[in-house]
Amino acid sequence: MSQPAQHHAVFGHPVAHSLSPAIHAAFGRQLGIAVDYVAIDATPDTFETALARFAGAGGSGANVTLPLKEAAFALANTCSERARRAGAVNTLVRQGETWFGDNTDGAGLVRDLTGRHGLDLRGRRTLLIGAGGAARGVAPLLLDAGVSDLFVVNRTPERTDALADALGEPDRVHPRYLDVIGELGEFELIVNATSAARSGAIPALPRSLVGMRTAAVDLSYGEASVPFLAWARAHGARDTIDGLGMLVEQAAESFALWHGVRPDTDPVFAALQARNVALVTAD
Ligand code: NDP
Repeated sequence: MSQPAQHHAVFGHPVAHSLSPAIHAAFGRQLGIAVDYVAIDATPDTFETALARFAGAGGSGANVTLPLKEAAFALANTCSERARRAGAVNTLVRQGETWFGDNTDGAGLVRDLTGRHGLDLRGRRTLLIGAGGAARGVAPLLLDAGVSDLFVVNRTPERTDALADALGEPDRVHPRYLDVIGELGEFELIVNATSAARSGAIPALPRSLVGMRTAAVDLSYGEASVPFLAWARAHGARDTIDGLGMLVEQAAESFALWHGVRPDTDPVFAALQARNVALVTAD
C-alpha cells in the first residue's frame, strides 16, 4: 500500500522568498519522495489560527521561521531537549492531535561550520549577537560543540538575559549590554544572529572584536549577509561564512524528522550557492 500524502509548510513573516520549499523539493527528488511543501505567511497574531487550519487540512509537519519561533515553542504540546533549552522551535511534527516541537537550527549551524568549513569550535571564545529565535536555536548547540565562553549581546537587553537564563550555564554564558561591546576584547568566533541588515544597518561593531583567528558567521545569506561579513573581512577575520550552509543543513535535519531519511546536502548546497553568488553580485 502506498504511503498517505504528507503536507508540509514553512510559516513566517515575510516568507514569500523563503528557499525552504525549493530545498525540500530538491531533497524529495533526490530520494524519490513526493514532497508537498508550501510557504504560508503568518504574523505572531495570526500564527495559531493558521497552524490550526493547516493541521485541520492534514498538515503533517511545518518549519517555522522569523518571527514565530518562540510562538511555536509556546504552541508545541511536547518538545525535544534542544528545543526546550533554546525556548524556540523551528520544526513541528504532527503526532495524532498534537504538535511535537524540535529545533534543528543549532545542529544545522554546527554541522555546516565543522563539516563543510572544517572549523574546530572547541575552546573558542565566542560572541553571539542577537537573542531572537535563531540565536536561541544555535546557542545550546554552540555550547555542546565546546566553545569556551559564550558572550551574548542584543539590542533589547531583556532578551539577552532571558536567553542566558534559559541556557542555565552561568559559568560559561555571559549576557552583556550592546553598548559595552567595545570592552569585551577579541573573539575567535563571532555569530551575527540579528535580522538587522534586513532593515538597513547592522549594529555598530568595534574592530577590537576581530583577531587573526576569528571566524565570523552571519546566519543570514544573500545580500543580508554582506554588511557584517564585509565588516569582518575588512578587519582581518580569517573565515567569513554566511548562513546558506546552515539553511541547507537545518532543512535536512527537519526532512529526516518527517521522512525518516537524511538527504545528501552537498549537491543542494552547491546549486544554491551558485544562485546565491548571482544574487549578491547582481546589479
Ligand atoms: P527574530 O525576529 O526572532 O530576531 C531578530 C533579532 O535581530 C533580534 O535579536 C533583534 O533584536 C535583532 N535585530 C533586529 N533588527 C535589529 C537592528 N536594527 N539592530 C540590532 N538588532 C536588531 O529573527 P530570527 O532570530 O529568527 O532570525 C535572525 C536572522 O537569522 C535572520 O536574518 C534570519 O534570516 C537568519 N536565520 C538563518 C537561518 C539559516 O538557516 N541560515 C535560520 C534562522 C534564521 P531585538 O531583540 O532587540 O528585537
